[in-house]
Amino acid sequence: MYDVQQVRADFPILAREVNGKPLTYLDNGASAQKPQAVIDAVMRGYAEEYSNVHRGLHTLSNLSTERYEAVRGTVARFLGAADEREIVFTSGTTEGINLVCYGWLMPRIEPGDEIVLSVMEHHANIVPWHFLRERHGAVLKWVETDPDGALDPQAVIDAIGPKTRLVAVTHMSNVLGTVVDVAAIVKGAHDKGAAVLVDGSQAAVHLPVDVGAIGADFYAITGHKLYGPSGSGAIHIRRERMDEMRPFMGGGDMIREVHRDEVVYAEPPMKFEAGTPAIVQQIGLGAALDYMMGLGMENIAAHEASLRDYARERLFGLNWLKVHGDAPGKGAIFSFTMAGGAHPHDISTILDKKGVAVRAGHHCAGPLMDHLGETATCRASFGLYNTRGEVDTLVEALELCHDLLG
Ligand code: PLP
Repeated sequence: MYDVQQVRADFPILAREVNGKPLTYLDNGASAQKPQAVIDAVMRGYAEEYSNVHRGLHTLSNLSTERYEAVRGTVARFLGAADEREIVFTSGTTEGINLVCYGWLMPRIEPGDEIVLSVMEHHANIVPWHFLRERHGAVLKWVETDPDGALDPQAVIDAIGPKTRLVAVTHMSNVLGTVVDVAAIVKGAHDKGAAVLVDGSQAAVHLPVDVGAIGADFYAITGHKLYGPSGSGAIHIRRERMDEMRPFMGGGDMIREVHRDEVVYAEPPMKFEAGTPAIVQQIGLGAALDYMMGLGMENIAAHEASLRDYARERLFGLNWLKVHGDAPGKGAIFSFTMAGGAHPHDISTILDKKGVAVRAGHHCAGPLMDHLGETATCRASFGLYNTRGEVDTLVEALELCHDLLG
């Protein structure tokens, strides 16, 4: 039985007030709060077990290496990866996608080759592909969403042509909450000879993910949204793709031998991890994933589905609120504007006075904003510790906004 009050007690920050009101944290889509288990792991990492990894032969270096490398196995378990050597540590999704861009696609892209994207990608899954358009003549092919924000997998597959090298698609929209059937896209793309990168930044936080079942070539996650530290993250890369990749950054740790006229790289995944890594942050990510797996991803997903249903009912009940996106099976992420045209920044400032933290802006999703005909929206994004009572608090604060801003 999922006891949300017990879960909340694990997150010290949730006990604080903001502007004299209990904190209602609904900005999880941007970054999530950290449980005590993560804070403790980071504290212990620095206070008792810190040293650089991989290089020393002394006790602390061996200990921190052991703790750090154990996280690779934790990430593999969390993502359902069969082999932890297919997990590359990154500083987050942005680095993971840039690694694929520079390490895998850039060396093989030809002018006129295509990259297929949905219009609801985050800038992290757009801008690296623009680099290839600007510098190498790649063509970006955009797939629209349906009016309810759903992404038809067949529309993505239909956009794939003989020149498509990569399909880059999100598993869950950070703006609309739409969940994408990425397994169907992967199957269709592979049948047509195109590789697939899935941006799992949001989906991995809210749903059980099985990269084996999805079958994507690349699946990227980011630690700070997964209740872990910022600066942590990982990307799952299928072995065949890894073997085709060249390193993105060069430096220590990713080499076996360096001579004046020759360099021998380390075996993957180390080959793609140059320099001193974010040691304690990754150890914190391991603690975060253990925490989530301890609660059970199915249980987290069920709790959030019930929050989504309740929030949906309450928000759609406000006839002056325009909620963007209502795809079946979406996650508990709601973007909205007010019919009277109140600016989302003003709405979020008023909500903040009531202790309610939401995000206002373009959410790093320019093409989606164009598609929606908005320059900005407010976004309430729920996480594993949110409650129905907090949905009510959000709605009351929105009613106040409506009274003040019309
Ligand atoms: N992709 C999606 C869907 C996101 O929501 C985010 C974060 O906002 C990112 C990518 C980028 O993640 P990061 O900034 O942690 O690299």
